[in-house]
Amino acid sequence: MTAPAELAYKRILLKVSGEVLMGDQGFGIDMNTVKAVAEEVAEVARTGVELCLVIGGGNIFRGLSKAAVGMERSSADYMGMLATVMNALAMQNALEKLGVDTRVQSAIQMDAVCEPFIRRRALRHLEKGRVVIFAAGTGAPYFTTDTAAALRAAEMNCDALFKGTSVDGVYTADPKKVPDATRYEHLSYHEVLSKDLKVMDASAVSLMRENGIPIVVFSIRQAGALKQVVNGDGIYTVIAEKN
Ligand code: UDP
Repeated sequence: MTAPAELAYKRILLKVSGEVLMGDQGFGIDMNTVKAVAEEVAEVARTGVELCLVIGGGNIFRGLSKAAVGMERSSADYMGMLATVMNALAMQNALEKLGVDTRVQSAIQMDAVCEPFIRRRALRHLEKGRVVIFAAGTGAPYFTTDTAAALRAAEMNCDALFKGTSVDGVYTADPKKVPDATRYEHLSYHEVLSKDLKVMDASAVSLMRENGIPIVVFSIRQAGALKQVVNGDGIYTVIAEKN
């Protein structure tokens, strides 16, 4: 596949769900998986692409999970946001072991652990070639890290929002359950919203639509896929306005 002009990325935001980081464990952080994702990120960072990361927390805690039954929603969501900070620190550690300069910025201030989110400072880090990991989601309950990723992608003027999942794109049906499901190459934001395709939250998709930022869905579990997709090769689904 040749690289379409719209896929020339200078700065991207990569969203990785917490579930990817648990590997095959079923819960928590699997450091081998974190290392594998960090290697993907490091490879792209070395090519000079400016990289922001948002990591979910679903491998540890979700505000709407069974573990949170009976809790006030806001308190449960704050626990979820704290979970994303743990994942961010694990990823920072793995990246720095690979020699990649990083900064973690949290939407909930935690001075002893990481920097607070300051947009202009984050931009400077990117310009200096550091990978910036945004932790604690939006800092507000009732949101998800998908929306946080979309928000930061817009704030940081990213060229695209990359959603690294365990599937290599958006399919007509769940490919794990429906063997003849086919992958979409290109979808419009409207198609994703009207077909209610479970790619990202509707609020995240809407935010990307309003700001004209493409969403690229690919498999982060596939070794080398991130670099390929950044170069416009490999397998992915792109969500953008259709001409
Ligand atoms: N969360 C929140 N506000 C945010 C981001 C996250 O309240 O801006 C909480 C929410 O409870 C969510 C949890 O943090 O369930 C973990 O995030 P998410 O479910 O998005 O993680 P992922 O599915 O990507 O692993």
